[in-house]
Amino acid sequence: MNPYDFARIDWNRPPERRKPIWHHQLIGQGAQHLYSGHLDVDVFAETPIFVSDPRNVPADPKKPAQFMQNKRGEYIIPGSSLKGMLRTVVETLGNGCLTLFDGNYERGDVNYRRDVPQSFQHCESNTHLCIACRTFGMLKERAGGVFLGKINIGDAVAYADNIYKYEPMYTAVLVEPKLHHEAFYLDEERKHIAGRKFYFHHSPDMKPLSAPGLKLFGGRPANRFIQPLDYDTRFHFRVDFTGLEADEFGALLLAIALEENMRHKIGYGKPLGLGSVYLQPTALELVDYSTRYTSPAAGRGKTELQGDAMWNLLYEHIDNFSQQHLVSIAMDDLRRIWLWPPEPGVEYYYPSKRDWFDTSDSRGKRIKDTRNVP
Ligand SMILES: [Zn+2]
Repeated sequence: MNPYDFARIDWNRPPERRKPIWHHQLIGQGAQHLYSGHLDVDVFAETPIFVSDPRNVPADPKKPAQFMQNKRGEYIIPGSSLKGMLRTVVETLGNGCLTLFDGNYERGDVNYRRDVPQSFQHCESNTHLCIACRTFGMLKERAGGVFLGKINIGDAVAYADNIYKYEPMYTAVLVEPKLHHEAFYLDEERKHIAGRKFYFHHSPDMKPLSAPGLKLFGGRPANRFIQPLDYDTRFHFRVDFTGLEADEFGALLLAIALEENMRHKIGYGKPLGLGSVYLQPTALELVDYSTRYTSPAAGRGKTELQGDAMWNLLYEHIDNFSQQHLVSIAMDDLRRIWLWPPEPGVEYYYPSKRDWFDTSDSRGKRIKDTRNVP
């Protein structure tokens, strides 16, 4: 089975864009309620996981590369990775622009920009932003200005008493066919791109795909020697948010909580079966700035929620968001791709080009058809 599939885009519904609420507008927006505060989230590794540290690559090739650590020596998943992952989910489920899509699909062999209608391409003006750009910020400064976004995500730090190390491993070499197989990348009508790419979870009963040793490709290493952290390792991070509108708050909560039988995927080696994680919110603090300034004595307008009270509020916002804004075809796809526990016994690999992509009967076949390709 191909290691990834696409969450479709609803081409009948271009991103809804509007002027973002800026930080200094926390109060005085009439009847509109804005959400500020922070959410604490635990991250459980469900499979081995590896986050590369580009500043700490062992000079000795016999030593495995270690999981990223901060200055205090704690293992971390950087906030920027978490932010990128959550942003992609908000874009996918909340009908955001295609910010991360540059039209070149990774290798630049084929330009699919023509297959993305103008109204879906990344936001250009800071007064006309989609839900993802309003929440997470515009990615680059453009002619239309800049918007920094309204959330901040800290690094996920491993709990010292919940660290488990996986055995050092050489990563398997998965070579994705170089020529793009059009039926993979375009939708059924061959009119638009197929959607946003997500990797399937591998069954936790299987080991991540590895190789017996270092593989050379033209004299250079084609794989890596790494020591992942094992499943059951637990991390914690905090999301701070300021002045979120109701739809932005709902989208953020959905992107974090997803559904009970779904998991996120993060870090290095996703096609190898690394990086399946469970994000579990543990506490929510809301700060109501409108009461904070008018009645300073009344608990400073802070509400702290945990357990059922927290979940009831999270679900209320997630349900409201889902009823009004969810892209249901994208959710159907993501539910299938990020299903947890995954179907047991499925093997993942890129169908080899010679055996499959070049044969006449493979023409027009789609990713689900790769399941039984040898
Ligand atoms: Zn946007």
